[in-house]
Amino acid sequence: IYILAIESSCDDTGAAVLHNGKVLSNVVANQEIHTQYGGVVPELASRAHQQNIVPVVHQALAKANIDKKELNAIAFTQGPGLMGSLLVGTSFAKSFAQGLNIPLLAVNHMQAHILAHFIDGASKEKPEFPFLAMTISGGHTQIVKVNNYFEMEVIGETIDDAIGEAFDKSAKILGLPYPGGPLIDKYSKLGNPKAYQFPKPKVNGLNFSFSGLKTAVLYFIQKNVKNNPNFIQDNLYDICASLQYTIIGIVTDKLKKATQETGIKKIAIGGGVSANSGIRQALLNGEQKFGWDTYIPKFEYTTDNAAMIGIVGYLKYLESDFSSAATTANARFKI
Ligand code: ATP
Ligand code: FE
Repeated sequence: IYILAIESSCDDTGAAVLHNGKVLSNVVANQEIHTQYGGVVPELASRAHQQNIVPVVHQALAKANIDKKELNAIAFTQGPGLMGSLLVGTSFAKSFAQGLNIPLLAVNHMQAHILAHFIDGASKEKPEFPFLAMTISGGHTQIVKVNNYFEMEVIGETIDDAIGEAFDKSAKILGLPYPGGPLIDKYSKLGNPKAYQFPKPKVNGLNFSFSGLKTAVLYFIQKNVKNNPNFIQDNLYDICASLQYTIIGIVTDKLKKATQETGIKKIAIGGGVSANSGIRQALLNGEQKFGWDTYIPKFEYTTDNAAMIGIVGYLKYLESDFSSAATTANARFKI
């Protein structure tokens, strides 16, 4: 079964071809345009998707070395995401499927981040059900109890900012370019994680909150820059290390709680922030310290990509769970 998958939920245009769940090609066009604005500008994102989508699909088919006539179905991201971005992928997928007279498979983007682990070779092995999935990205922060491919329950999520925003907005305060998450990670390795203390939010249960941390960083910087205008330059590595240490602590505390409450010790991570070296290390440490089994996917399957949409599409195909041509994008699509 050949499936073409389309991803266009945010600012990356992706297309992939899978054969029986195996990835033959996985093409992503990143949009550079947003860097100068310090964040994703939705209107510009949809215009760039519109420009990118046809060449990206062409490239995916060419790399997979198949003709569009061989495709058996088209999978696409129905949501959640930016409406204007989703509409480009959705409209393209619907027209292409109609033109080729093959079925459509609508996919939930957050479910796809989780099921990316079932792509062949995505991580060391495929997690067994039930497991916990922590999806951490620029737009989401969730802990999900995964009972089966399509039986998932969100047991914790952010009540304000996503974890990626905590990284990116703090980075912005430090004068770093967007997206600042990877830079904070890089500089953290050179600094002392205990140099400064930032407050951990007090949120009950398994929910997260990150907006207070960003404010704490802002006040901390303002106060210190008053005394020393070069405070940031002089202490950048220590500030980054301390901030990352705080975020790792928040995440680890919630995962500990989630494993205790559910009795499930298998933890899979996904989303762009799971590229963070400190978070990866904390998970690996958890294997020794708390008896966790952790699943960390390859980088190309953690950030937004079409291969993960394709694997969900394939699983849906096997269940004949097709979507009608009347399916529309859903910006707030829940798991
Ligand atoms: P969503 O998947 O929720 O729609 P998104 O498109 O922003 O949101 P991703 O592309 O999965 O999500 O992730 C981007 C985020 O990951 C950004 O906030 C970026 O700063 C963050 N990020 C990437 N690498 C790292 C890293 N090494 N450390 C910390 N954050 C990182
Ligand atoms: Fe995503």
